[in-house]
Amino acid sequence: MLTRRRALLAGVGALGAAGVAGLLMPGTGGEAGPPAAPAPGPPARRPLRPSAYRLQPLAGYGPPAAAARTPVRSEPLLRMSGVGRTMVLTFDDGPDPRYTPDILRTLREYDVRAMFFVCGEMAAANRDLLAEMAEDGHVVGNHTWSHPLLTQLGRARIRDEMVRTSEIIEETCGERPLWFRAPYGAWNRAAFQLGAELDMEPLAWTVDTLDWTEPGTRTIVDRVEDGAGPGVVLLAHDAGGDRSQTVWALRDYLPHLLDAGYHITVPRRYQV
Ligand SMILES: [Zn+2]
Repeated sequence: MLTRRRALLAGVGALGAAGVAGLLMPGTGGEAGPPAAPAPGPPARRPLRPSAYRLQPLAGYGPPAAAARTPVRSEPLLRMSGVGRTMVLTFDDGPDPRYTPDILRTLREYDVRAMFFVCGEMAAANRDLLAEMAEDGHVVGNHTWSHPLLTQLGRARIRDEMVRTSEIIEETCGERPLWFRAPYGAWNRAAFQLGAELDMEPLAWTVDTLDWTEPGTRTIVDRVEDGAGPGVVLLAHDAGGDRSQTVWALRDYLPHLLDAGYHITVPRRYQV
């Protein structure tokens, strides 16, 4: 334990001063090198693919200018860059009344903000928890309505899964989601295009706790502490099965990460 905690601290110290959260870069997940230097301003906008010009913004999600600010990506964002001691915790598939309240309580205890990628059908059944996430300052993201494999669905079904979920989040939390995560991390072109139409950035993760396999609380804690590093986006789940190990693990690793100097935060979008 001591060795791992010392390693955590050493990893943080080597990178110096804490950075500013917000920038996320695609395609850098799992690489060992230091994060890129912070950019002075908004990232350079990628040129839209020709087909993107034909996309029509959906009604009810802001003016066309707002939608145009979200690029159509070809891969999801995997981590934060330009940061020092910053990490992001994400919890998928909820809210679930058996586990989400415990996770919210622990985050509140340590005054930490996280991201929850909720499924619309879970949110519809647990609106109070969805509202509580927003009230506590957590970022609520769109994880589709029914958690399907998007690569097996047609465009209309994918749109329906995403739109319905964004609607219930906006109705309950007062703000539409700005982040989207494909179930199973299975992205396709339609998901990227529709996400951009709905003004959502695609966020994947850097470190997977594999908590859904129920490997044991200790193993989950070890995976988090071994995977901890600047800019890391951590994946865990607050629903979809027995998530008690996820709940117990968070109570264990969260104070360790904070003791090690990590700033647990949420990413920001430049246009908000
Ligand atoms: Zn999921």
